[in-house]
Amino acid sequence: MEQKKIVIAGLGSAGYAALVTIKRINPKAQVVVIDPKDCDIVHPCGLPYALEGTVNEQDLQQDILLSRMNVEKIKGIVHSVDAAKKEILVHQDTTTVTIPYDTVILCTGYKPMLPPVNNIERYIHSGVYTLSSIADVGRIKKELKGKRAIVIGAGAIGLEVAHALKNSSLAVTVIEAKDVLPNAVDSDMAQLVTQHCVSHDIELVLHSPVMAIEKRDSEFDVITQNTTYTASFVIAATGFAPNCDWAVHSSFETSRWGVIVNEHLQVQPGIYAAGDCIQSWSVIDKKPFPVKLATSAYKQGIVAAEHAMGMGSVYKGTAGTFVTKVGDLEIAATGFSTQVAQERGFSVITGKISATVKPEYFTENERLNFKILCDTKGKLLGAQAIGTGAAARINIISLAIEYGLTVDELMRFEMAYCPAVSEVHDIVFKACEFAKRRMK
Ligand SMILES: Cc1cc2nc3c(=O)[nH]c(=O)nc-3n(C[C@H](O)[C@H](O)[C@H](O)COP(=O)(O)OP(=O)(O)OC[C@H]3O[C@@H](n4cnc5c(N)ncnc54)[C@H](O)[C@@H]3O)c2cc1C
Repeated sequence: MEQKKIVIAGLGSAGYAALVTIKRINPKAQVVVIDPKDCDIVHPCGLPYALEGTVNEQDLQQDILLSRMNVEKIKGIVHSVDAAKKEILVHQDTTTVTIPYDTVILCTGYKPMLPPVNNIERYIHSGVYTLSSIADVGRIKKELKGKRAIVIGAGAIGLEVAHALKNSSLAVTVIEAKDVLPNAVDSDMAQLVTQHCVSHDIELVLHSPVMAIEKRDSEFDVITQNTTYTASFVIAATGFAPNCDWAVHSSFETSRWGVIVNEHLQVQPGIYAAGDCIQSWSVIDKKPFPVKLATSAYKQGIVAAEHAMGMGSVYKGTAGTFVTKVGDLEIAATGFSTQVAQERGFSVITGKISATVKPEYFTENERLNFKILCDTKGKLLGAQAIGTGAAARINIISLAIEYGLTVDELMRFEMAYCPAVSEVHDIVFKACEFAKRRMK
């Protein structure tokens, strides 16, 4: 019997997960990868650490020996998919080729989004930068001899970049239209992050949309409603848009968040999409949830590949679980923030605690701020944690949210305990108790 040809377009988190899933299910499967990169894989999440100098940017590139896996690689960019002819149109350096497929999984990722700021496009790559590729790290590193940097955007990447630049002895100002970690954490938790940044000499200008950038001699004026800030260079860390031009060229349905897929991550029968290029949805209410994270992309790549291989896999949606580290401060969250939950129609009850992680009799101790969110019936909606052990606890809540658990059900869960690590009655449960009291 003739082998079916599976094409994976885009070898990032989702594409790699799809590839290894297919090969796990059937090592002999005929797989073709289409991707424009010289190397097989790039790890974008490591870019802030390459800028900081903690890791070498060249180490963020990886070759995974596709030929040994019996996988053919075609260097090029998918332009469109002809569903009727089962063909993919691929642009290469000087030519265009047509690749036939039986099944295609499109995992073309993201592209950096620039904010609506006058002149920003004029100075891009010459004083104004985004951070989404290894080439960007190289460009920014050439600017590190300057005195002051401005980062536009106080999301996780903006803060990681600000910290990296601070470590290079630059004065750093972060300018943000909303609050720190907008939409991801509540303002009371954001305040803790603000305090941490300020104490590490990172200036934060919040609730101040940047309106224009002007070049004056060799410096840049970054103009907000009330003030003009000057810097040697500017980094725009203002989010990502789906990279799904192929869907538009192919007349597939798209939204501003990406190509529309069903619960099996199918655009149409035989055509799948996964990762940052799709419009994802929340595991809580199944409505669109514009999360662009490597974690979700990886899981989606697995589901799309499993379904393409004949398993009945379903993607339940994302909880948007993330962790970031700003200096030594760990910040993690899952689910909705209070504002996002309310905007989606939930009545929100919260329980919050700030406590030492280990029993108080430990003189060497760390602090954790933890907040849990549920609806009036106790169904978990989200959690936010700042401090030591934040991610470990948020991962538990992420699992609980995925399985639709309530605060009561979560409280029956047993967590590992030893006084050198945690309390016997963990901070998570104490926050749940506070939320329960408010429910009464
Ligand atoms: C600086 C930075 C830090 C980040 N930190 C984190 C983090 O700490 N945690 C986290 O969860 N997420 C993080 N992210 C987000 C994460 O990197 C993305 O969510 C994730 O890479 C998305 O995976 P993907 O497979 O959808 O896309 P990508 O990883 O972007 O892969 C897309 C691939 O498609 C290829 N491609 C593009 N267009 C085409 C085309 N037309 N045809 C063929 N191939 C194409 C590209 O070359 C690329 O290899 C970070 C992102 C950045 C930029």
